[in-house]
Amino acid sequence: MTGTVYKSTGSWYQVKADDGRFYKCRIKGKFRIKGIKSTNPVAVGDRVIFDLENPQDEEQNGVITGIKDRDNYIIRKSVNLSKQTHIIASNIDQAFLLITLNNPPTFTVFIDRFLVTAEAYDIKVILLFNKIDTYNEDELAEVKFLAAMYRQIGYQCIGISAKNGKNVEQVKELMHDKTSMISGHSGTGKSTLINAIEPGLELKTREISDLYKQGQHTTTFAEMYDLSFGARIIDTPGIKGFGVVDIEKEELGNYFPEFFARKQDCKFYNCLHLEEPKCAVKEALEAGEIPWSRYKSYVQILKGEDDQQYRMDNFV
Ligand code: GDP
Ligand code: ZN
Repeated sequence: MTGTVYKSTGSWYQVKADDGRFYKCRIKGKFRIKGIKSTNPVAVGDRVIFDLENPQDEEQNGVITGIKDRDNYIIRKSVNLSKQTHIIASNIDQAFLLITLNNPPTFTVFIDRFLVTAEAYDIKVILLFNKIDTYNEDELAEVKFLAAMYRQIGYQCIGISAKNGKNVEQVKELMHDKTSMISGHSGTGKSTLINAIEPGLELKTREISDLYKQGQHTTTFAEMYDLSFGARIIDTPGIKGFGVVDIEKEELGNYFPEFFARKQDCKFYNCLHLEEPKCAVKEALEAGEIPWSRYKSYVQILKGEDDQQYRMDNFV
């Protein structure tokens, strides 16, 4: 049989079969996936092949025998020195990033880091500017400015109010038939939005503030939920971003789509768009075709500045 993993405890997996029924599955023996060294062989979102242990049994227990290729997956590196990789979830269609101007502030460098990681993971992102019911004229103008900027680059942006329901229907439509993640700083309205989308669904969007202190034995497991209107949501407790992803310096510009589109016009094929002569990205920047905030984020990420902050953003 085939199905999708909805929950993992590390020792068993809840699998929803294509017939819509749930099975409790184990993995037999040494089960490793070629090419990926991770602490967990099977992750939430995986499409798996499994056999029923005892077809007559009411228990509906199964044994996973194989995994289909993943479209994408997000990982977390263990915080201890062994640097082992943990696959948080896989086969994610899209991530919604909740952004608020204040209470709490979401800085563009945080948005850009999130977008870069999503590009590297090959996950589509939709930016949701939340709490628009609270903004004054100046703040609304700022939201409009940011939304226009990110739309220009190619990211879909929607202004919403999770509290009064403004444009929440549009978010639901985008979620239909897809597997989504909802991310954003603590306090940006993730729980409120989920409650507006599917009243009664209680996610563990709690933050784990002392993950570092808890050490290597702590693992937070993602979980997938079916929503009543034909959508799936992946809850990743304690993980606001996508975890870390290793990006080579030369690669970073590829994950800024507006840089990538111009880099073939740079004089040097390995141009880092810093001080090199005849850099098409810098020229576009000077011409006002690339936003300064995007370039600033690029340099900041490239130089590894604020790295500690980045890690904290992602794990705390
Ligand atoms: P989370 O930490 O991301 O899950 O954020 P919450 O959903 O707990 O929201 C944090 C606070 O912001 C709560 O007091 C919410 O009532 C409030 N909030 C969330 N969305 C909105 C909104 O669209 N408008 C207003 N005015 N408040 C909101
Ligand atoms: Zn360049």
